[in-house]
Amino acid sequence: MKISTITNWAYGVTLVLTILSGGAMFVAVNRAEGERIAVQDHLAISDAANDLAVSVETITAAARLYVMRGEERFLKAFNSGSDDEHRGATHLKMLADSDPSADEKSILESLPDAAGALDTYEADAINLYRNGDAAGARSLLFSDEHERHESDLLNLVRQLRALVTARTQGNLDKARLQADIAAMAARIMLGLTAAVFLGVLYFILKRRVATPLTTMSGIVNRLAQDDFAVDVPLVRQHDEIGAMSEAINIFRVNGLERERLHAEQTRDQQRKDLILQMMHRVQACQTHRELAEVVARFIPQVFPSLAGRLHALSDDRKTMESLSEWSAPVSGKRFSPDCCWGLRRGRPHVSNRNYSDVCCQHLTEGGLPGLCIPLSAQGETVGLLYLEEHESEASALDTARLYLEIIAENLGLAIANLHMRDRLTLLASRDGLTGLLNRRALDAALADAGHGVLSALMIDIDHFKRFNDLFSHEAGDAVMQTVARLLDAAVAGKGSTYRYGGEEFTVLLPGRQLAAAFDCAETIRQTIATTSVAYRGQAIGPVTVSIGVASTTDGEDAPLLAKADAALLRAKQAGRNRTLLSTEPG
Ligand code: GH3
Ligand code: MG
Ligand code: MG
Repeated sequence: MKISTITNWAYGVTLVLTILSGGAMFVAVNRAEGERIAVQDHLAISDAANDLAVSVETITAAARLYVMRGEERFLKAFNSGSDDEHRGATHLKMLADSDPSADEKSILESLPDAAGALDTYEADAINLYRNGDAAGARSLLFSDEHERHESDLLNLVRQLRALVTARTQGNLDKARLQADIAAMAARIMLGLTAAVFLGVLYFILKRRVATPLTTMSGIVNRLAQDDFAVDVPLVRQHDEIGAMSEAINIFRVNGLERERLHAEQTRDQQRKDLILQMMHRVQACQTHRELAEVVARFIPQVFPSLAGRLHALSDDRKTMESLSEWSAPVSGKRFSPDCCWGLRRGRPHVSNRNYSDVCCQHLTEGGLPGLCIPLSAQGETVGLLYLEEHESEASALDTARLYLEIIAENLGLAIANLHMRDRLTLLASRDGLTGLLNRRALDAALADAGHGVLSALMIDIDHFKRFNDLFSHEAGDAVMQTVARLLDAAVAGKGSTYRYGGEEFTVLLPGRQLAAAFDCAETIRQTIATTSVAYRGQAIGPVTVSIGVASTTDGEDAPLLAKADAALLRAKQAGRNRTLLSTEPG
């Protein structure tokens, strides 16, 4: 109930109680007035009866004195007393008309007759005296009959006084009782009014206002310090305090929501910052391995609830290889691109646990739900970004999907750039005709060579010009390619083969001493010499090579290639198709 309703009710109740207590007061005063009137009535009748009794005795005394002494003044007194007695009897009769009891009324009505009878009796005696019968008059006035008349009258007066006194006392007691009851009722009402007033005051101020306000001020203070974890007790009061408590609770709920949004914004901003950092590093990566490491470091920070793997398409485009992984994904590391619906469709694909859509075959049951985002650039698929949810956080994929697709787009471009870079590097370090490493790569290898043993073979095709001249330049190219292939195969696992220039080749054999290098050179020379070379189905005569061998440990004091070249020159001069060491003369 609202405080205003309570106060209105309390006001109404106290008003009613006040009116009732006023009414009771009025009744009490009214009863006191009744008391006064009862006393007044009593006094009036009592006085009138007294006066009548006194008049009767005065008249009787005057009549007796007159008949005894014959003095006129007593006759006068008799006559005037008789008038008074008549007036008194008439007054009493009038009083009989007010509100006496039946007994009183009959006495009051019979009083004038009794007084009249006594007066007539005494008047007869006086008349006898005046007519000269003094003895008869005296005998009348002192007779038993006169005594009887007088005592009848006085008895009536006594009875009347007794009745009036009894009735008056009854009325008085009744009026006093009613006055007392009314006064008591008035006091009780006043007491109740005071109790209601004080009770309401206590209830409103203490229970409904002071206590909740104290609690709420503490809560408001904590809310003002952004402590939204404060517990707002449920106030069930349907009043202003209840409304205030509800408002505070709404404020707290709004604060919590604001805090949650702020935290979400902060998290989102941190996520964006991390993605940006990752992208900067991805752009700066020079190898696939670096790229894989950057992705494996950053994605778990951005999406802690997702495990995943970065796949790249193998060179033969038949397998998706794992470049890196994070948070222990359970899906397959290597798989055919055909196993992935994302790769097949060229669009992100979700494999759900409820199997509402087809599932990729490279996923295992534990990896569901999983998201496959193909990495592509300029329409060509280069890899796959795969993510799966931890058991603990469902729908994490949905939340992260937009960001993941943006990341995948950038990763696709980055991988394509690395491919391009690899291709350019290949072009820059390889010879276009033979596919062997070129002179630039040779210079770099020599510059990077450490202080360990290194041997070099300088190889030159004998009379190569003849192939050009006799069969055509293309045939010469074919001879060159065959020699290069044989060289590469012979040196595989031992060292590197370079096209030095023209029809000359260099082989570097790290860790090989001069003798081992010589053996390798001889193997090469003999292999070439015994391999038949054909161009467009036509056999091209025997191909031979001359080789000069040098080593960093051969004791000769000159650059490695210069020593080998010098040995090659000597081999040519010595008749070709032979191997000469830097240490032996031609
Ligand atoms: P030698 O036994 O003294 O080495 O005689 P050679 O004929 O092999 O040597 P020479 O220096 O006289 O001739 C090398 C020829 O190789 C000259 C050049 O036209 C030819 N040549 C160089 N590069 C290529 C190439 O890439 N393709 C073809 N077809 N010929 C090339
Ligand atoms: Mg040459
Ligand atoms: Mg040559």
